[in-house]
Amino acid sequence: MGRLPYGAHGSDAYRIIQTIFMEFNETSYAENKEVVVSIHEIQRLYSRGTETVRALDGVDLNLYRGEYACVMGPSGSGKTTLFNMIGGLDSPTAGRVFIDGVDMAQLNAKELAFLRCRKIGYVFQQFNLNTTMTALENVMLPMIFAGMHPDNARVRGMALLSKVQLEERWRHRPKEMSGGQMQRVAIARSLANNPALLLCDEPTGNLDLKTGKEIHNLLYDLNKNDKVTIICNTHDHNMLSVSDRMIWMTDGKIDRIALTADVHIEKASLGEEDYE
Ligand code: ADP
Ligand code: MG
Repeated sequence: MGRLPYGAHGSDAYRIIQTIFMEFNETSYAENKEVVVSIHEIQRLYSRGTETVRALDGVDLNLYRGEYACVMGPSGSGKTTLFNMIGGLDSPTAGRVFIDGVDMAQLNAKELAFLRCRKIGYVFQQFNLNTTMTALENVMLPMIFAGMHPDNARVRGMALLSKVQLEERWRHRPKEMSGGQMQRVAIARSLANNPALLLCDEPTGNLDLKTGKEIHNLLYDLNKNDKVTIICNTHDHNMLSVSDRMIWMTDGKIDRIALTADVHIEKASLGEEDYE
């Protein structure tokens, strides 16, 4: 049994204390599940002057279809680097990443672009919408890129905007929308090509608590009702508590994995020392 205090997070005036009751057993968890992403011994080194930064230092991880996995860890522990590897936005210095059985290192630029567009949905802290396009055009873009006829892309784009309750805003550009609305457009866009996996890197990091809650309710619905596989980097208590698995990272390594059902999550008020 391990007790992991987890530090103060943004505007939440509490910290989360997690107590794990059971060690994670991958063999029993994997039973009757299909692997979507398989990561083997990846390393990502960066050089900073004469120094080598080991952003990822030997990570092994499987993600399973339909699961909702949360990744946590202090700033600089390698979470975003890991997401960039899974998403094919960057490649490892050593090791391999397989998406639906495809070794990403074997793909040429065009194949990789195709895989990224078809298999992976991205939701970033900064939304990353195209600011010159309307909400609908943003959502249509990955479909057009994947070769869908614009008429069909428009119909599906409206359906996705309606899923995130923004169909009336289809004409609006990002500057005419709130942060929560922009993130909902980004989520609709991420679903454009029915991805095998949704990568969410601090999706509520730029949102206030109430809006953040709406975003994780939406992600939760997508996972539970539409069976979308989600890996989410968050410290948000509400998001953690509905996940299937929790993955902790420290210093470029996976520290610990636990089934959320085996973790007692406790919110504690911040003490004086937490503000330092
Ligand atoms: P997290 O998302 O957990 O905060 P990151 O994955 O962003 O952590 O970073 C992990 C480590 O790698 C940090 O020490 C960071 O400074 C370093 N790092 C990330 N990207 C680069 C880069 N492009 N060049 C050099 N160092 C980097
Ligand atoms: Mg990060």
